[in-house]
Amino acid sequence: MIHSVSVLGSTGSIGRQSLAAAERLGIRVEALAAQRSVGLLEEQIRRFRPSYAAVYDPAAAAALRVAVADLPVEIGEGLEGLRRAATVGCEAVVTAVSGAVGLRPTLDAIAEKKRICLANKETLVCAGSIVMEAAARHGAQIVPVDSEHSAIFQCLEGRREQLKKILLTGSGGPFRGWSRAETAAVTPEQAVRHPNWHMGAKISVDSATMMNKGLEFIEAMHLFGVSPDDIQVVIHPQSVIHSMVELIDGTVLAQLAVPDMGLPIQYAMTWPERADSPYERLDFWKMGDMHFEAPDPEKTPCLALAMDCARRGGVAPAAMSAANETAVALFLAGRIGYNDIYDRVAGAVDRVPAVADPTLEDILAADGLARAYAAEQ
Ligand code: MG
Repeated sequence: MIHSVSVLGSTGSIGRQSLAAAERLGIRVEALAAQRSVGLLEEQIRRFRPSYAAVYDPAAAAALRVAVADLPVEIGEGLEGLRRAATVGCEAVVTAVSGAVGLRPTLDAIAEKKRICLANKETLVCAGSIVMEAAARHGAQIVPVDSEHSAIFQCLEGRREQLKKILLTGSGGPFRGWSRAETAAVTPEQAVRHPNWHMGAKISVDSATMMNKGLEFIEAMHLFGVSPDDIQVVIHPQSVIHSMVELIDGTVLAQLAVPDMGLPIQYAMTWPERADSPYERLDFWKMGDMHFEAPDPEKTPCLALAMDCARRGGVAPAAMSAANETAVALFLAGRIGYNDIYDRVAGAVDRVPAVADPTLEDILAADGLARAYAAEQ
């Protein structure tokens, strides 16, 4: 159980739920960071009284300084502000910013041995080897917040060396079973309406395209130190099982709970202990059937692409994730169609030159190229 936390991305869906969990568990909120939602950030500052808060957008930071001039809180801006928020005097950092911007602050927090409550999957997708190596070197604990990885983490506690295979479950999203012709006219409004989970816009689109499962596939490889062949994606539309592990003797362990992100968030904060929670409990008398099937690579091209990038390694996952961020933003802005997301990402990945054993600079360069390619096609 931690006693103080910094929440990066505090105005987003995971960030707001992290603050609610911290309040419920009596954890002091030491710092907050957001991209530009000044109104909500001001409310959060007044409620949680952090010593430091950062806004990525400099104009928004200036507005916030005026708004909270009556409080003893220091306001930072830009990437520097985000990095400072990750390293103020706190035991743990919730990394809930969306996208690759979370990478450097996460590495900073690792260097200061803070617990990383990891909710930014792009960090591991882009630079998994670098991040995991830094965590091992500094002795920083990474506790996943993503529901699937939290499930795997919980199933593996005390038995890492018994692992045979990870069974990564996914609901299949709102367009499960739809062909490319059927998804052609999908609108942003349809894509952000997920049947089981309430999430931010970017991750909701990723769930619809199943790029989210692809990012999670790569995230799992790094977090648990396994190869792509040791992870099997299983479609499970009810989202009751959050993922499973198969052990060397054939035993399968699963973690089940209601699909509410509040639970894995709370667990990342209370680990290795547990605390009471206000969430609904599973009622097996009322649950009904649980269904499982294999993903169809024809109908989930983003997942297939991600698994291919996972095998290629190097800068391919970083290029894919960066191109996807750009493509999803263009789709949400109404500038490209739903099927263009895959086309743009696949096209960008093909054009970014391969680099074996990339440095952080190589990764950031591939990230920049991929974003440019995805935007210009
Ligand atoms: Mg997930």
